[in-house]
Amino acid sequence: MIDTIGVDSAQRYADANRSGVELVRSWVDKLAIDCDFEPKDAYVYTCDPSRRSEIEKEAEAARSLGFEADVLAKTPLPFETAGALRFRNQAQFNPVQYLIGLAAAIEAAGGRIFENSRVTRVDSGSRWRIETGRSHLNAEHVILATNLPIAGSVPFDRTTRPRCHIAMAFRIAPGTAIDGMFIGIDKPTHSLRMGRDREGPLLVVLGPSFNTGHDGDVAARFRQLEDWVRNNLPAGDVAWHWANEDYDTADRVPFVGEPSKKEPGLYVATGFNGWGISNGTAAGMLIADQIRGRPNPWVTLYDPTRRARKDFNKGGDSQSHVASLKDIRPGEGGVIKLGKSNIAVRRPRTDRCTLSRHPARIWDAP
Ligand SMILES: Cc1cc2nc3c(=O)[nH]c(=O)nc-3n(C[C@H](O)[C@H](O)[C@H](O)COP(=O)(O)OP(=O)(O)OC[C@H]3O[C@@H](n4cnc5c(N)ncnc54)[C@H](O)[C@@H]3O)c2cc1C
Repeated sequence: MIDTIGVDSAQRYADANRSGVELVRSWVDKLAIDCDFEPKDAYVYTCDPSRRSEIEKEAEAARSLGFEADVLAKTPLPFETAGALRFRNQAQFNPVQYLIGLAAAIEAAGGRIFENSRVTRVDSGSRWRIETGRSHLNAEHVILATNLPIAGSVPFDRTTRPRCHIAMAFRIAPGTAIDGMFIGIDKPTHSLRMGRDREGPLLVVLGPSFNTGHDGDVAARFRQLEDWVRNNLPAGDVAWHWANEDYDTADRVPFVGEPSKKEPGLYVATGFNGWGISNGTAAGMLIADQIRGRPNPWVTLYDPTRRARKDFNKGGDSQSHVASLKDIRPGEGGVIKLGKSNIAVRRPRTDRCTLSRHPARIWDAP
């Protein structure tokens, strides 16, 4: 990051993310949120001895930005590693439980939260009008924190690019839990941490990223990830599996703030590059300051109007294109062309098709 955006911006990025984590930590404490929050060491590891110098270089860069980072010959993982960068005392928690706790605090303070309310339109006027189809709200300020912004005159579908990871959670016997959060730098990359559901501890593992909609056989990725886990870790049954989606930016810095002076009061928070918990919290702090007219050191860092590559997301190479509806089998989905539009189609197991319209570049294959 120092090489791409310069030391000053990298420092502000580090400060913003650190502040985001500290705010999470302080809210968990102050609001007594029950979310399995634990200070844990975070590791960036390699299994390839020839990549150890990269770890050392990264440690030096991290230290220059004020992080305590040390280089280890190996990690506490149960398989052979060749080197790791360790950040001590980071935060491991269940983000859903954390959000439930925050939502309760918002309601206790008089805020109102409307769930199951998909926003279908956001219109400007003397105030913003947010429609859900059934009802509407008027507001002075609107924050689009919908992954890709769903409204406004400034599109982000070319300056951000969606990417997916396969994630799986395995039952794990007591005494075999891993201690820490781990991200690999080798290819294919894997990241690991512990979690928990009602039935007990879980080993949560992520596979390598891939461009949303560009992979013709996502199911194979689950098989590959499970094989890798079974070859390397003492994992039990698969308890959960899912695919997450995040939006990247060309400079790896999110877009946060007002994207157009002509639309005052409309804010975006997007392009978290897979770090939307710390960056997203920092984005909330920044937008709160902007709404209240307070200065904030991250305005220019996250500026959504900054110069950005317009061709970052070239789109178009979905593996899900089919010539006609007849080519979609019951229970499956695909993308068909209708005039200039790409239409995402899902065919239920009963013989009926559902159509939904997505801008082509953000279509996620079913
Ligand atoms: C296993 C795993 C580990 C991770 N670890 C970390 C980590 O250590 N640190 C970190 O910073 N990040 C981490 N991340 C990434 C982080 O979880 C994401 O970057 C973050 O959740 C993205 O937040 P978001 O609010 O932008 O998007 P989302 O969490 O996807 O939220 C967007 C919301 O907008 C809603 N929405 C969309 N359209 C509409 C509409 N039209 N009307 C109403 N609502 C709408 C959606 O329903 C959704 O609730 C991890 C992710 C995974 C899967």
